[in-house]
Amino acid sequence: MAGWIIITIGAVLIAALFAWKLWRLQHEVYLFADRLEQFLDCILSEKEITGLEEIEDTLWGKVSEKLQRVAHVWKQKNTEVLREKQQIKELISDISHQTKTPIANIKVYLEILQSESESAREREFLTNMERQTEKLDFLLQSMIKMSRLETGSMQIQQQNARLVDTLGHAVAAIVPKAEKKRLRLSVDCDTQIRLFHDPKWTEEAVFNLLDNAVKYTEPGGDIHIAVTRQEMFTKISVQDTGKGIAQERQAEIFTRFYREPEVHDLEGIGIGLYLTRRIAELQGGYAEVRSALGQGSDFRVYLPNESSHYCDN
Ligand code: ADP
Repeated sequence: MAGWIIITIGAVLIAALFAWKLWRLQHEVYLFADRLEQFLDCILSEKEITGLEEIEDTLWGKVSEKLQRVAHVWKQKNTEVLREKQQIKELISDISHQTKTPIANIKVYLEILQSESESAREREFLTNMERQTEKLDFLLQSMIKMSRLETGSMQIQQQNARLVDTLGHAVAAIVPKAEKKRLRLSVDCDTQIRLFHDPKWTEEAVFNLLDNAVKYTEPGGDIHIAVTRQEMFTKISVQDTGKGIAQERQAEIFTRFYREPEVHDLEGIGIGLYLTRRIAELQGGYAEVRSALGQGSDFRVYLPNESSHYCDN
């Protein structure tokens, strides 16, 4: 009988010890997870990590020491990235200022030379030089715009404005080129539509689409701009009756500096669509194309109807 009592008490004691050990382990795991969470919060919010002066010789001690080193490296890299970004911003600003005057001067000198030149051969050369200067100017301006958008030195500034005004500016800028090519331009946009958008950059995005429509459509063709208010987005669509784009190239055309091989003789550097898509994305929207080879294209920019978007640059 006494033997049974001793065995029972022993078993109860072992069970209690086991339960206590389990409770301790659970407690330590909770404590570990809690400290880890606080630590990670500090890293993420870039706050100073305190209370770790003495590295304990425990699992937490080892993990926290490694985490501290990771946090330090991360902070250093972040500072480096910010410094580099600042340097790029300054470089772009310098390039933009320093190149403006010489290019403007070259254009003036070319104009003077052309008006004074009597030889046809000279005039031909001067016209070529003028074209090359325009190209250089366009290239520089496009690069500057691209870098400004990417480094965030030019912020997207959204405001509640009438979309028809933004489109009107883009259309007015393309009319001379369209007329020169005898292209018919039409616009279908409800004048009441107001949209929280950046008018200047949106005009740039739409202008790029119109410029392409003019460039890649044969004389006598049609270009149509249509605006449709959808549930979440407002769709701005630029349709043309131009050369169209093969299905397998439709993703590539939005990448930086991509140009289809057959258009290399036409002016352009391959960043118009990239910029258009980027401008849409920075406003919380997106851009896409529907097209078939030989059957024209329909480029669409979607901008959100709600103003709740915060741009990511
Ligand atoms: P760029 O016009 O300077 O070449 P883009 O980035 O604007 O650069 O366009 C990339 C390429 O997509 C063009 O080279 C052209 O091949 C094709 N593309 C763009 N828009 C059209 C269009 N409306 N119709 C046919 N092809 C187009």
